Amino acid sequence: MSAPGLEIDLDKIEHNASVLVRRLNVGGISVTGVTKAFSGAPQIARAMLRGGVTSLGDSRVENIELMRQSGIRTQMMLIRSPMMSQAGRVVASADISLNTEIDVVSALSVEAVKARKTHGVLLMVELGDLREGIMTDDVEKTVLAVRQLPNITFMGLGSNLACRNGVSPDNRNMAELSALANRFAASSSSNQPIISGGNSSNLNWVFRCGSFGRINNLRLGEAILMGREALNRKPIQGLHTDAISLIAEVIESKSKPSKPWGTLAQSAFDNAPKNGSYPPDHGNINQAILAIGRQDTDPDGLLPPVGFDVLGASSDHLVLNAGHKQLSVGSNVSFQLNYSAFLRAMTSPHVAKTFNGEGADAPANCEVRPLPHAA
Ligand SMILES: *Cc1c(COP(=O)(O)O)cnc(C)c1O
Repeated sequence: MSAPGLEIDLDKIEHNASVLVRRLNVGGISVTGVTKAFSGAPQIARAMLRGGVTSLGDSRVENIELMRQSGIRTQMMLIRSPMMSQAGRVVASADISLNTEIDVVSALSVEAVKARKTHGVLLMVELGDLREGIMTDDVEKTVLAVRQLPNITFMGLGSNLACRNGVSPDNRNMAELSALANRFAASSSSNQPIISGGNSSNLNWVFRCGSFGRINNLRLGEAILMGREALNRKPIQGLHTDAISLIAEVIESKSKPSKPWGTLAQSAFDNAPKNGSYPPDHGNINQAILAIGRQDTDPDGLLPPVGFDVLGASSDHLVLNAGHKQLSVGSNVSFQLNYSAFLRAMTSPHVAKTFNGEGADAPANCEVRPLPHAA
């Protein structure tokens, strides 16, 4: 296996998707599998589809185009507000986009007319996290304006919490979304409006709460990939938390003092003045350097094997305290990783990606089992 490299178990991802889909379907909630963390890699997108997600969502049109080119025909949602400069590409590749700006929806309408297509628009509502969303007082006039636009289908409402300020989905803000749905979604042009409550941070609320009001969709990435909810990062019962691991190779292994010597100033990635404060002296340790760094992943999001500690990282070096072990140069160390570390490793061209399980050997370009294509 090449190092550094991600090892991705497609069967575990499929399992995680299927467990979440089954639990949420009981409450009438459909799952959109979010593919942005893995740049739309078709192998992983297909594992999510085998697990039963009924649509796919990505924040970048390039990733949606990649999945289309690989033959995936499922309903796709652009989950970040479209760039106006990409309106034509959005209409060409995505069925639905999440929107907050009427000027953008107008641009989508112009492109949809040109392409003789209809494009679905879900309007995002601001519920307090202060990332994307229309202020609630402006929802009515925006819905009315969207409904005037040719070749645009108003699909329903959505919200997104916990991404900027960590505002948690709860009975109050979810009821607010349901109330807005009651007032405005009836005017949706589709007979089954989508009320998309949020992302993996909504799962605690869903599992705790028996009634979901009008909410009938969630957009899930992290929970499927990592097997954890996104508010406290606790494992979700029945899900794999080790579907993905990261492997890096040892390039130096020596017994070294734990305390540096010389005059301290800023280090490569830490601008905090040290004021002569040295790290504590633990005597000599088994220090290992691995050939991976900040350019490849988020070192703070790496969980080393038991008995090891990550001491620090620069662009291309990760420094480990190997505890009692003297690692041999050339050997590999396998890490569990969080969403942030995975996202960066997946995006880095320097990190190999190895897929295991069903669909791992499928040619990049192949047909998937056809799934119902929403109107
Ligand atoms: C990233 C994102 C999601 C998925 O979030 P997860 O925490 O990975 O489930 C859903 N909706 C929007 C708008 C997003 O940006």
